Amino acid sequence: MSELAYPYEAPASQALFDRAAAVTPGGVNSPVRAFRAVGGTPRFMVSGTGPYLTDADGREYVDLVCSWGPMILGHSHPEVIAAVQDAVSRGTSFGTPGEGEVALAEEMTARVAPLEQVRLVSSGTEATMSAIRLARGFTQRTKVIKFAGCYHGHVDSLLAAAGSGVATFALPDTPGVTGAQAGDTIVLPYNDLDAVREAFRAHPGEVACVITEASPGNMGVVPPAEGFNQGLKDLCAENGALYVSDEVMTGFRTSRAGWFGVDGVVPDLMTFGKVMGGGFPAAAFGGRADVMAHLAPAGPVYQAGTLSGNPVATAAGLAQLRLLDDAAYAKVDAVSKEIQGLVTQALTKEGVAHRLQTASNMFSVFFTDRPVRNYEDAKAQESFRFTAFFHSLLAAGVYLPPSSFESWFVSTAHDERAVQRIADALPAAARAAAEATA
Ligand code: PLP
Repeated sequence: MSELAYPYEAPASQALFDRAAAVTPGGVNSPVRAFRAVGGTPRFMVSGTGPYLTDADGREYVDLVCSWGPMILGHSHPEVIAAVQDAVSRGTSFGTPGEGEVALAEEMTARVAPLEQVRLVSSGTEATMSAIRLARGFTQRTKVIKFAGCYHGHVDSLLAAAGSGVATFALPDTPGVTGAQAGDTIVLPYNDLDAVREAFRAHPGEVACVITEASPGNMGVVPPAEGFNQGLKDLCAENGALYVSDEVMTGFRTSRAGWFGVDGVVPDLMTFGKVMGGGFPAAAFGGRADVMAHLAPAGPVYQAGTLSGNPVATAAGLAQLRLLDDAAYAKVDAVSKEIQGLVTQALTKEGVAHRLQTASNMFSVFFTDRPVRNYEDAKAQESFRFTAFFHSLLAAGVYLPPSSFESWFVSTAHDERAVQRIADALPAAARAAAEATA
């Protein structure tokens, strides 16, 4: 697609992007935001209300990214904003313990049974990095099994064959990660228990943990096959390794208790981020109390953070979680189903080969006619069709993740008007996908 083929220009965003490129590598602070997979000018957003975002050119979009997951109540939810304002009015960071972090940990542990103890951090990356260190410290072993296409943040040892931006840009191994860091990571195909069995056989007594996205959303949505997570748990238990379930994306989104609430498989450790921070930098890891007891200052495995448990972030997260009752999840699930139906209908009408895959209310579209069970399958899709589909929707005021390797997200705020805008935009987008050429 040439630059001229983009349906419309965004001069104010372009001017900001030019300024940004002068002072920030690639003009963005997180790679996927740069639109490189789809081309064109990334939209600089200036405000968000409910299901809508408004960009620097004054255009409004129905948001199907929701800040990559966190904004499950939509933007600027009045009760979350009020909680933030109340917290801010009392100060922004104390570097001491505070009641907000206790209340957030209590809310999380009450929702997720295997989460006996929790430690708050500031990003999902920090959560998985710390969980891996703890797993190694606890087991006194070095190796970590992860799956191709799963993304666990930009932790050195976990970047091998990662999803999300690493998938979007088809990066091989990231420069800057040493052989020693990568050498302790065993990367296996997703949804393949035999490969995991074989890896445990090949490395007896060496594997500290298996880390997996509870239900992957970073290679597009590729849910675990029936029995896969339980199989991982059982293999870990048989081999003295810990089962680490990364719920940064699925946690408190796919149900009240995240993906654990869907499949009930009990992890040894879990990681969280996104929804639990209410749009602020808050994340966490936790799980078995006997394992967490190895963490400083209770135990010898060091982990710390100047802004961990920040009072404003914990107030936002707590307010958001308290609003996420059964009715809220029913709403998110229902609107997700409705949009899924509209997408399928539009693409089918235009004869576009596609697979819409779901994991509770998370979903994404692969432009292929074959089921997508792992990263190899995901990469086999016709991503050029996504590019055309994406830009057509963007021009019509619908904001999708700018990559075919990402989950779409909806919120309780996606109402009839927002869904109607999507419904109106889809026929032309499906036509654009059908007509696209590689
Ligand atoms: N784990 C998963 C499953 C994620 O989806 C992400 C981010 O998208 C992370 C970890 C890293 O979280 P953060 O971007 O907050 O560092």
